[in-house]
Amino acid sequence: MQHLARRNLIIEALKISEAKYRSLFDSMDQGIFYMDPKGIVTSVNQAGEQLLGLHRDIIIGCKFVDVCSKVIKEDGSIFLCEQQPSMVTLRTGKPVDDVVMGLFNREKQNYIWVVANSVPQFREGEQQPYQVMMTLTDITSQKLVEVKHSLALAIVDNIGEGIFVTDKDKKIISVNSAFTIITGFTQPDVIGKSAGFLQSEKNSLKIDDILSNSNENIGGWQGEIWCRHKCSEDFPSWTTVNEIKDINGAITHYVYVFMDITLLKKAQDRLDFLAYHDPLTKLPNRLLVIDRINHALQNAQREGSQIAVLFLDLDRFKIINDVYGHSVGDSLLKEVAKRIKNLVRKEDTVSRYGGDEFIVLMENIPDARNPAQLAQKLIETTNRPVYIRGRRLQIAISLGISLFPQDGRDTDTLIKNADAAMYRAKKEGRNNYQYYCPDLTTEAFAKMALDRALRQSIDRGDLILHYQPQVCLKTGKLVGVESLVRWKHPTMGLILPLQFIPLAEENGFIVALGEWVLQNACKQLRQWLDEGMQVNKMVVNVSVVQFQRSDFVATIKHALHLNELLPSNLGLEITGSSLMDNSEQTIKAINQLIALGIDVTIDDFGAGCFSLNNLKRVRVKKLKIDSSYVFNVLSNSDDEDITRSVIALAHSLHLQVIAEGIESEAQQKLLVDLGCDEGQGYLYSSPTLPTSAIFRQLME
Ligand code: C2E
Ligand code: MG
Ligand code: MG
Repeated sequence: MQHLARRNLIIEALKISEAKYRSLFDSMDQGIFYMDPKGIVTSVNQAGEQLLGLHRDIIIGCKFVDVCSKVIKEDGSIFLCEQQPSMVTLRTGKPVDDVVMGLFNREKQNYIWVVANSVPQFREGEQQPYQVMMTLTDITSQKLVEVKHSLALAIVDNIGEGIFVTDKDKKIISVNSAFTIITGFTQPDVIGKSAGFLQSEKNSLKIDDILSNSNENIGGWQGEIWCRHKCSEDFPSWTTVNEIKDINGAITHYVYVFMDITLLKKAQDRLDFLAYHDPLTKLPNRLLVIDRINHALQNAQREGSQIAVLFLDLDRFKIINDVYGHSVGDSLLKEVAKRIKNLVRKEDTVSRYGGDEFIVLMENIPDARNPAQLAQKLIETTNRPVYIRGRRLQIAISLGISLFPQDGRDTDTLIKNADAAMYRAKKEGRNNYQYYCPDLTTEAFAKMALDRALRQSIDRGDLILHYQPQVCLKTGKLVGVESLVRWKHPTMGLILPLQFIPLAEENGFIVALGEWVLQNACKQLRQWLDEGMQVNKMVVNVSVVQFQRSDFVATIKHALHLNELLPSNLGLEITGSSLMDNSEQTIKAINQLIALGIDVTIDDFGAGCFSLNNLKRVRVKKLKIDSSYVFNVLSNSDDEDITRSVIALAHSLHLQVIAEGIESEAQQKLLVDLGCDEGQGYLYSSPTLPTSAIFRQLME
């Protein structure tokens, strides 16, 4: 009885132990199979069932190699039954380690990759194992990673884009085949070099700087940059840079992927060009010029500058087209386009707006008259005959001009008004231009006509000199004679210098005019001296523009030499309100002339720009108080104060002072009281011809 109870207890304990063992056995991650010497499975845990996708009732009692019929090796070939680890162990009695194999899972209908180990188990004293334990560890997910990795490697090496990988310091550690094909650099050429090595000097931006300086975590960059090629020209690329980070978020690598976009860009440029240009003349088309005007308006509004829109239309182009055919018409348009293009400034836009219509956009024009000058030149250039296939074609254009801001504040209005002005030009008899606002046309026309006539004045003998005495205020004696130029215009009569000197300064004619005055004034002094007159100084007005010519000093010397005069016979009055704009060159020339012994006076002192500062840099001898102060010296106490101060200032600098515009005894008396040294004005004589009796009177 006691024996039975004890046995039951043992059975109970065994059951508990068996249950413990089973739960341990079943909770293992690895699949475990026990097989008898024939290879028949005697026991399998849950993980083993899952690996094969079969229930243990099916597995147990069968040969492992039968339940698991399709076993493959890593290379995909069939694993023969006898070579499988459990069978080898059974045969040899030795363990087999770490064999990788693929088991077909019935449930999932796919292969599960495992590492198999089989261990023989012996009973004491026996040589043959009574069973084999085989463990299978699931490595499917690692295997997938491996597959993915080798797939990625294959892709990287076969892809058309260049790829290179750098370490965190942007030193290149690996490149793909396309990299070498695109850049010409091989892996050994670039390994260890910085990523910047591959970037062209043409780039204004440096990706590395962007990546390292960025405060935000941008994770990468992409955009267009120029890349270097080992042996040919730099090429444009589309580059993407990605940062690779470790689990702590620290950057470990950068991956650069790029493609050569030379062809793409060329195609894009070509498309852009076609969309925005006229195929015949290659000029910007209507779309582009409208866009440019829009932009120009934005700039002009911001900067407060002026814009002009010139609308050109060929006169009677239709007739040429009809008579000679379209191909002649096309050639003519091409030639006209070329001529227009050659005339405008680089920053201006010339566009073919329609059939025989062109638009010129001028930005940032300093003066509303500038477009008129261009319009005149455009008319002249298009008037020159065009030779096409042996034919001489003479064409003309009509032009309309509208200005921002006065004639319109938006693109449409400006074009519409320039077009309207062009129609008016056509009505006015073609081959001319009109401003949208007619007043400007008149003014511009007048200026241009004056400009043209002035250039002819010397050759036509239309310039003459009048002379005005300068006297010592204390003694009343003649100290010099100032030459003052006049222009005898063929139709307008005598024109005074203030009406044409500024124009001559603007168009550069002042240089020729100044030389003419200098020569003739010197010649006059020579003549007076030869006649035995008591005069020893000719005073000539010189515009500051003349000093900008490097040969100015030589011109003066030459005039003196030619007329056998001494430097002391010549006085120069420097005129021009922008006297000191040109600084160094002017100051140097003035000082050279003074060193020669020529008297230099600053004309119109107090009205021009000549500052006190500059007065210290030039060693002039005399200041001429501007006539505007002298006129009012009696009636306006401010003017009297200014005159007094100028005289005091001049004397403190050891300069003499001459007052111009003295018309009355009273003015003269006050100036003498204020200490003024010399005077000039109608009181003594108005400017007059050299033959005037006043000179005999003063010089004898
Ligand atoms: P400026 O050199 O200050 O010449 C003096 C101007 O005042 C002259 O005018 C003269 O006719 C005028 N004037 C003289 N006395 C009186 C007076 O008592 N009352 C009044 N109301 N006016 C008087 P003009 O001849 O018309 O010359 C004007 C300016 O033209 C000159 O001023 C000078 O700056 C410039 N100019 C004249 N000739 C030449 C030249 O040959 N070359 C250059 N560069 N400039 C010249
Ligand atoms: Mg003068
Ligand atoms: Mg003056």
